[in-house]
Amino acid sequence: MKRIAKRATRRAKVAGVMVRVAKKIVAQVKPRRKSSTTPAKKRASSKRADPGDILTRLLQAIPEPHVELAFENPWQLLIAVILSAQSTDRRVNQVTPDVFSRWPNPAALAGAEPAEVEEVIKSTGFFRNKTKAIMGASAMLVERFGAQVPRSMRELCEVPGVARKTANVVLGGAYGIASGIVIDTHAARVAGRLRLTKHTDPPKIEADLCDLFASEHWIGLSHRLVLHGRYVCTARSPACSSCPLNELCPARVAPAEDSWQERAGREAAEMEERAEGFHRV
Ligand code: SF4
Repeated sequence: MKRIAKRATRRAKVAGVMVRVAKKIVAQVKPRRKSSTTPAKKRASSKRADPGDILTRLLQAIPEPHVELAFENPWQLLIAVILSAQSTDRRVNQVTPDVFSRWPNPAALAGAEPAEVEEVIKSTGFFRNKTKAIMGASAMLVERFGAQVPRSMRELCEVPGVARKTANVVLGGAYGIASGIVIDTHAARVAGRLRLTKHTDPPKIEADLCDLFASEHWIGLSHRLVLHGRYVCTARSPACSSCPLNELCPARVAPAEDSWQERAGREAAEMEERAEGFHRV
């Protein structure tokens, strides 16, 4: 009996030692808890910029937001926006004068010779699909909407070649109807960098922005985000030091060079220069 008891005691001691060793090993491999004193810079990087402050600065930086496509009526804007897919507004503005002088209204374009249209718009890329889209859109306007561009998102999205982004540009740019916020590649990038959204899907980005900003700002904000992304907050080399949103932006990569008002003033002057020559309705 004594021997059995001794053996049991020895086993218990060995087990105790093993448990202590195991605890030490676990303690060594367990990831350390993050320090509660995270550097301020790191905390700021995930913080969303204040929408009201962003708006204040963008209003000053881009006082007269505008579409950079030349147009004289809603139909022309619709055609120009369809042609701008995978192209630049500058390129589209080079071909649309020819398009609108050959085919001055929806009925004329709907009845055009596709090969001729393809030739005229060729330089905008994807010209076969775009020819089908602009001719199809024009035909539907004639057949269903009395040759007018409809004024509702639902009806406009029934037109061939038109989705939410195009509809938002046309409704806002041609009719002043705030149907939503235009989310193109530039607007999506700026919104993401400012942490206004966590999404990458345009409809979800649009929904987030529409929640953050009052509808009276949607049309202007659409153009402001696009223009700011196109000329300042570019994809490869954002001009953070001269960006008026610098101090508000969690994604800035350089410090601001002077006051935000001075930076906004310079952006406004640059935008004014670029706006010259654009036709509006
Ligand atoms: S600070 Fe830089 S990253 Fe932020 S919005 Fe301005 S240009 Fe874009």
